[in-house]
Amino acid sequence: MNTFRYSRLAIGLFTIALFLPTACSAADLFQFRNGFWINLHHYLYAEALAQGTNVNPRWQASARAALEHAPCSAFAADEQRDWNEVVKLYEQSFSSRDPLFDQELLAVNRALGSADDRGSAPISISNPLRGQLQRAADAYRAHCWPAHQRANALWIAALGPRLADHGTPIAKRLSEVYGEPWPNIVVDVVTYSNWAGAYTADHQITVDSLNPDYQGDSALEMIFHEASHTIDDGIIKQLSAAFRKLNSDQPNGFEHALIFFTAGALTQTELRSSDPEYVPYAYRLGIYKRVPFWAEDEQLLQQYWQPYLQGKHSRQAAIESMARAIVGEDTKASGARTVDDEVAAAIRAVLDQQVSAWNRGDLDAFMRGYAKLGELSFYSGSTVTSGWEQTLQRYRTKYQGAGNQMGKLVFSDLEIHVLAPDAAWVGGRWQLEMTDGKRPGGLFTLIFRKLPEGWKIVHDHTSS
Ligand SMILES: [Zn+2]
Repeated sequence: MNTFRYSRLAIGLFTIALFLPTACSAADLFQFRNGFWINLHHYLYAEALAQGTNVNPRWQASARAALEHAPCSAFAADEQRDWNEVVKLYEQSFSSRDPLFDQELLAVNRALGSADDRGSAPISISNPLRGQLQRAADAYRAHCWPAHQRANALWIAALGPRLADHGTPIAKRLSEVYGEPWPNIVVDVVTYSNWAGAYTADHQITVDSLNPDYQGDSALEMIFHEASHTIDDGIIKQLSAAFRKLNSDQPNGFEHALIFFTAGALTQTELRSSDPEYVPYAYRLGIYKRVPFWAEDEQLLQQYWQPYLQGKHSRQAAIESMARAIVGEDTKASGARTVDDEVAAAIRAVLDQQVSAWNRGDLDAFMRGYAKLGELSFYSGSTVTSGWEQTLQRYRTKYQGAGNQMGKLVFSDLEIHVLAPDAAWVGGRWQLEMTDGKRPGGLFTLIFRKLPEGWKIVHDHTSS
């Protein structure tokens, strides 16, 4: 064990020496900028999204929320007229374009990020955009920029001590995990970046200063999440190769779930003494539950990637295991994840939550898997229990009454059959492991319905 520890430490030190110059300090990890032109451009973009008539509702909601946090003082009538016209032109040109996936907007962002605040709009920006920026500049400088510049500066100042305390160890681990050296990264801080709160292309991060989700230790995690996008080429190639070996394509978005998971886990580990309650961003915002398939992906990351992060597996082994698990499930649906797979993932997440609730003795949380309806029915042996309260009561009596124990629950052989977009039946086996060595178990059939609050069990037939 000592030898093992020693060799791991040695490998760790070697990688650190390879990837980070010894003198690397937190200040070297990121170069923060708080620039006038890039802020003006993003603020106009936010106004265009907020006022647009044919805008993705999610983008619009994010822009409207941002504008509430970043007001300007009153414009004079002629300033307002010019401003409105520029916003209208922005709406026509940009309101349906994602700054992350648009080559022209990315080039604009690079030019504006390094522009001199005091000069005019950079000449590398072509007209008509350059003219629009010039036309809006004086009003923005007079009525918005002092407050926006201050807000950005405060965000940078709040992140500073966190980076000084934790930045270098997190950057070292990220470099090791992705197997790439730490690059030079510039961070442009703006009041609103895009719908996601931040985006990264090349080695330029553009991040919101006023987004409530990007504050405190979440700002620390998310700056490293964004930085991960600058060192993820190798891991993306490795993932693609693992899927190709299995004659399959890497499912869309899987590597992004991995990036969320990794930055969250490394930040949480680094903060374990200063912020032991820290909940990684994607868990706090329920992102794994919201994005299709990510509930399953998160399970796989827990199972195979977390051990890699803890140094128990190699990266290659973790990637191959995850690819096999994903492809194994996908072959049933002839290679593509379908709507049925989406339903199955949602139902699996409900059952997973039930199992973990049961195993921590939390019957109330376990019961959240059941529809809170009078018509909930529970058949077991020759008895019928009707209603949610009654079902909870039955569980309480049977497993929490005097002399009884809940044991450790496992579901296996799950079969999820989608009957309709809002209905499915699930078959499987249950087994309990009791402390006295007994292992009661049996079969179950569940009927799930999709209710406004999500997928819930409306009927349960359990046999032993
Ligand atoms: Zn990302």
